[in-house]
Amino acid sequence: MKIIAGNWKMNGDVKSLDNMINDLSGIDTESRVILCVPYTMLRAGNDVVMIGAQNVSKFESGAHTSEISAKMVRDTGAVVTLVGHSECRDALHDTNTDVAERAKMAILNDLIPIICIGETATERDMGLTIRVVENGVRESVPDNATDGGFIIAYEPRWAIGAGITPTTQQIGAVHKIIRETLNDMGFTDTPILYGASVTGANAHEIMSVPNVDGVLVGGASLKLDDFIPIIKNAE
Ligand code: PEP
Repeated sequence: MKIIAGNWKMNGDVKSLDNMINDLSGIDTESRVILCVPYTMLRAGNDVVMIGAQNVSKFESGAHTSEISAKMVRDTGAVVTLVGHSECRDALHDTNTDVAERAKMAILNDLIPIICIGETATERDMGLTIRVVENGVRESVPDNATDGGFIIAYEPRWAIGAGITPTTQQIGAVHKIIRETLNDMGFTDTPILYGASVTGANAHEIMSVPNVDGVLVGGASLKLDDFIPIIKNAE
């Protein structure tokens, strides 16, 4: 079973999510489909589609104007949240430690965090990919994590929304390091997703790479005609 997670970013509305859930609910798939949507659209999903948020606060409650707690997200019926997405790391200046604190709150409130890690173009060019990714896993996974209770998403930051993807060899090499790191930490049953510029055209090849348990999809998750081929190509 593969995991196909969509990240709607700041797009869509309640009606477009209604339509997407309705259309996806009719498809025959063995994959686990997740849609991470803006807070205003959060709700419970169904047997086919799990609904998730795109971030949660590292605080429990209180004077944090504009923030949304993990408890609030869970209260909507949503069951998943992204944490550490590169756009949040950039905008909120989140470090791995901040991401671990967000993930910790998610787990405490029965949400499955999808913990995003990945190198920038500069880090890649400096030959730091493996180090950044390994540190990302070790430092962003919180101390209350349980095996299978969280998901890692490897997203090379230079490829997100850029229409370019690393080669399958590059993806395989990074995912192998992530798997070995997780094993070393005692997490032998934790899914690892690949994200950045996944489309219906490259989804099958990417998901055939060892240690790729699914994909995290931005732009191509917004339209059914783009998203369905990715789900179909998982099988
Ligand atoms: C993302 O934002 O997580 C992402 C993978 O975006 P895209 O698929 O558009 O590159």
